[in-house]
Amino acid sequence: MTEFDREMMAALEADGEYLRQMTGQDHGPYFIDAPGCIECSAPLPSPSDAVCETCLSTAREALAQET
Ligand SMILES: [Zn+2]
Repeated sequence: MTEFDREMMAALEADGEYLRQMTGQDHGPYFIDAPGCIECSAPLPSPSDAVCETCLSTAREALAQET
């Protein structure tokens, strides 16, 4: 990652945080080419997935226990 990329991502995060505070909603940033699971950074089978199968099943189990 280059210095420019870091500055760009920092700027995007600042924008997202600003929108989050203004609207109370999460506006990202969402990096389409995110390197992996947002929970554990494991590689993802599909770039459209945000979390890996392991984290997904863990979340499902946690939900199942709440009900
Ligand atoms: Zn994961």
